[in-house]
Amino acid sequence: MSTDLDILDAEQWIKPVGKPLLIAGPCSAESEEQLLATAIELAKIPQVNMLRAGIWKPRTRPGEFEGAGEEGLKWLRKAKQRTNLPTSVEIARPEHIELALKYDVDILWLGARTVVNPFSVQEIAEALRGSNVPIMVKNPINPDIKLWIGAIERINAAGIKKIMAIHRGFHYFGSSEFRNAPMWEIPIELKRLVPDLPIIVDPSHICGRRDLIEDISQKALDLEMDGLMIETHYQPDMALTDAVQQLSPTSLATMIDRLKIRETGGDIAFETKLESLRSEIDKLDVEMLQILAKRLEIIDEIGHYKKDNDITILQMKRWAGIIDDRLSIGTQLGLEDEFLKRMLNIIHKESIQRQTDIFNS
Ligand code: PEP
Ligand code: MN
Repeated sequence: MSTDLDILDAEQWIKPVGKPLLIAGPCSAESEEQLLATAIELAKIPQVNMLRAGIWKPRTRPGEFEGAGEEGLKWLRKAKQRTNLPTSVEIARPEHIELALKYDVDILWLGARTVVNPFSVQEIAEALRGSNVPIMVKNPINPDIKLWIGAIERINAAGIKKIMAIHRGFHYFGSSEFRNAPMWEIPIELKRLVPDLPIIVDPSHICGRRDLIEDISQKALDLEMDGLMIETHYQPDMALTDAVQQLSPTSLATMIDRLKIRETGGDIAFETKLESLRSEIDKLDVEMLQILAKRLEIIDEIGHYKKDNDITILQMKRWAGIIDDRLSIGTQLGLEDEFLKRMLNIIHKESIQRQTDIFNS
């Protein structure tokens, strides 16, 4: 998949705001008192370089707190004047953009529920045409990188060049300790496809609970993500939305102090050693692929042999035997049981597919 984005790279516009970018503030603006009290505490944390607050809240069911609307924007502007911190809000409709800009909001973002809908994204893109406001695009709820890139492309095609992505995790049907599964391979692939695109991580909506936020924040920094957006409330337990995942400004400050911002490169000795280890990996990868190709060649030969002799593709006894045997060898070699099962299943699926193709040819 290729992308044709014309965006400014992070060095040009995020760095002056702060790197890593650290956006903090409540899930929702609830009252002037709540927003100001939270913002004033956050402004005392030197690493915090931007405020967030939800003004229009996309709620799953009607009747729940849906945000303070325009009134909330007045509080947010006051918070900005008091603290000198730039501000950011989620917008979901063209009229939200107009209002947010009227109250001097600095960065707007599209939420996960908006990004799933290309009609909404397009409508927002049209409303942004001619403006120079930076836009952050959260990933869609479902793990679909094309939908995420598509939304970024629509915003970019409307002339917006300051664009950033926010990784907030993905809806996951299986059991997971996270509210939204991180599936790091997706933001990593996005980085590979669009190297200039800054990506920040929203550990609050990934974790859905306070105690996991530090680990996910550290992981984000270790994966060279460009910043964090963390929900923070001066009285988290009293929050009207997302109470269990919000941190107090004090716990945010403590957590930030513990986070390690590691270097992305090292001195010559470090780079040389890394290079030599990486070239070993490269060699092993080639060997691994050659072995895999050889294995699949034999699979094809067996496929023809089974077809000629009218024998079924899947032979359960043989497959069960393989699993037992390889799991035992693999675990003796120090490989994780779950990893081995997943890997064997992928290989088995490919083998069955190839033999099915042979049967159908
Ligand atoms: C939010 O950031 O408050 C929010 C609603 O998040 P998301 O769009 O990621 O669900
Ligand atoms: Mn929230």
